[in-house]
Amino acid sequence: MNKKYERLCDEMIQRQIVSRGITDPKVISAIRQVPRHLFVSEALMDQAYGDFPLPIGEQQTISQPYIVAEMTQSLALTPDDRVLEIGTGSGYQAAVLSRIAYRVYTIERLHSLYIKARKLFDKLQYHNIVTRYSDGTTGWKDEGAFDAVIVTAGAPEIPQVLVDQLAVGGRMVIPVGSRYSQELIKITKDRKGVRQTSLGGCRFVKLIGEHAWRES
Ligand code: SAH
Repeated sequence: MNKKYERLCDEMIQRQIVSRGITDPKVISAIRQVPRHLFVSEALMDQAYGDFPLPIGEQQTISQPYIVAEMTQSLALTPDDRVLEIGTGSGYQAAVLSRIAYRVYTIERLHSLYIKARKLFDKLQYHNIVTRYSDGTTGWKDEGAFDAVIVTAGAPEIPQVLVDQLAVGGRMVIPVGSRYSQELIKITKDRKGVRQTSLGGCRFVKLIGEHAWRES
C-alpha cells in the first residue's frame, strides 16, 4: 500500500477500531491488509479511512470501518471457514473476510456494483472470493451450508432460508429492524438449535428481495 494510505489506515485502526474494543488480531491484521481507498471513487479516496460510511453509487454505501470490524469479529472466523455475504456493495467487507476465511461467497443485487467489485477482486488477486449477481435473501443453496453468514443490509426480519443454510456450529450476523434503524443480531446454531443475541444499534441501507423489503 502507498505510504500515505498506510498511515491513514494505521490511524483508523488505532482510533476507531482498537480503541473501541476490537481485540481479535486476525481481524486487525485483515483490515490492515485491505486498501480501503480502492473501494471508493477517486474523489473520495482521501476520506476512505474516516469514521463514517461513504457513498458508492446507486444510493448504496460502504460501511463505516468500525462496523466492518465489529461484524467480522463477531463471526469468530477460522482459516477453514466458508462464509456467505449478502450485499457485496463496494466489496470491502468481503475483502476483509477473505483475508481470514477459506472462501467468501458474496451476492449483490445491483449489476453495476457487482461488476465493479468483481473487477477489483481480480485486480487485488483476492482469488478466494466468489461473486454472484442475484437476490441474496434466498441464499446460495448449492454452496451451503456455510460456517458463517453476514448480511450487510438491513432486513425487516431474519430470513429463515439463510438460517437454514448455516452449518451446525455456524455464526450469522444481520441488521434487523425498520427502514431507518436496526439492531445488529448475532445468531449461533448448535445441535440443540438456534440462539440470538443483540450487538446493539446500527443503520444500514435496505435489504431488498423476496425475503426482505420490497423494491420501493
Ligand atoms: N458490504 C458492503 C456494504 C454495501 S451496502 C461493503 O462493504 O461495501 C449493502 C449492499 O447490499 C448494497 O450494495 C445493496 O445493493 C445490496 N443488497 C441489498 N439487498 C440485497 C439482496 N437481496 N441481495 C444482494 N444484495 C443486496
